Amino acid sequence: MNSDQQIKTGEISLPFGAYLERICCPFCGKILLGEVLEKECPHLLLVYTDLVPEFQYIHPEIEAHYEAWMAEDPNDRGPEEYIEATESLDFLTIQVNTSGMACGPVSSSVVFRFQANPAYLAGLESPL
Ligand SMILES: [Zn+2]
Repeated sequence: MNSDQQIKTGEISLPFGAYLERICCPFCGKILLGEVLEKECPHLLLVYTDLVPEFQYIHPEIEAHYEAWMAEDPNDRGPEEYIEATESLDFLTIQVNTSGMACGPVSSSVVFRFQANPAYLAGLESPL
């Protein structure tokens, strides 16, 4: 199999009306989404929901890379394009899709990206 054909983002779609109550880091078990978004897990690189056009959380090293990447073409780029452009088997990226009723049927997605080895970013001049 060509590496480009491998799945780089795991996608979970919850049943209609179900919501994401909590998510835990798959490496250390820390609750990242509960009452509030915790950001202290050393494995978490970014959190993004399509409800808001900015990252809910982005690791400082990743943010520096994101800002440089954005500066190359700021008009056609944003968080969603960045997540897609930087998909890699080096990361564990999980997208959770939810849907339910508001004024009508609505849906949204939350993307979490992890790195198993917290030293990964420190050891590389250009992490991505
Ligand atoms: Zn963790």
